[in-house]
Amino acid sequence: MSRRIGILGGTFDPVHIGHLRGAVEVAEMLGLDELRLIPSARPPHRGAPGASPEQRLEMVRLAVRDVSPLMADDRELRRDKPSYTLDTLVSLREEIAPQDQLLLLLGWDAFCGLPSWYRWTELLDHCHILVLQRPDADMDASEALRDLVAARSVPDPQALAGPAGQITFVWQTPLEVSATQIRQSLASGKSVRFLVPDAVLAYIHAQGLYLR
Ligand code: ATP
Repeated sequence: MSRRIGILGGTFDPVHIGHLRGAVEVAEMLGLDELRLIPSARPPHRGAPGASPEQRLEMVRLAVRDVSPLMADDRELRRDKPSYTLDTLVSLREEIAPQDQLLLLLGWDAFCGLPSWYRWTELLDHCHILVLQRPDADMDASEALRDLVAARSVPDPQALAGPAGQITFVWQTPLEVSATQIRQSLASGKSVRFLVPDAVLAYIHAQGLYLR
């Protein structure tokens, strides 16, 4: 029996209910055996996060504790290099069976930016890509990406076949919450109760995170 393993990478600065609800819904819809939330150590595409890598990992751990099949994966923090998704996929592939399916979850915006990623054309050698489409998306895919979609997409996410190589789309209305908004609220002394799990909120306060 092959297993289905989802991957959601992010800065998770901090992890919030938008990430978590989206992850739970995808895991249920696709019957995932595992959905790994993988905090990025040194995000190649953005500035320094407000919390340390260890703190961001700990918040993800607290958020997914007892929430099967979600789990925290610390592999990008154990690497002494920038967090390239390709390297992450290769290292995960070494730990799982060859027939296991790997599904890389990407928001539409991230998917549109794919051609700027490190060795992006090789990603599908290691995983399927599941694009989380949102009704209000306002970005366009480049021609290279549209060609790839034409060649590799399957209309039904349930029909993904084999361990890697296909692209599929799932429609999701995301919760209107972002880590940026949460950091800003905390910096201005406002409550973020119910936007992050209580255990994450307690950790943020205990560590004095995001005060400015
Ligand atoms: P920031 O505001 O700091 O840019 P963020 O809230 O967008 O952060 P990331 O850590 O950058 O969070 O996101 C990781 C992944 O989670 C991305 O693929 C992103 O598309 C997805 N994501 C972020 N916010 C939501 C949300 N509200 N609903 C569903 N998915 C989300």
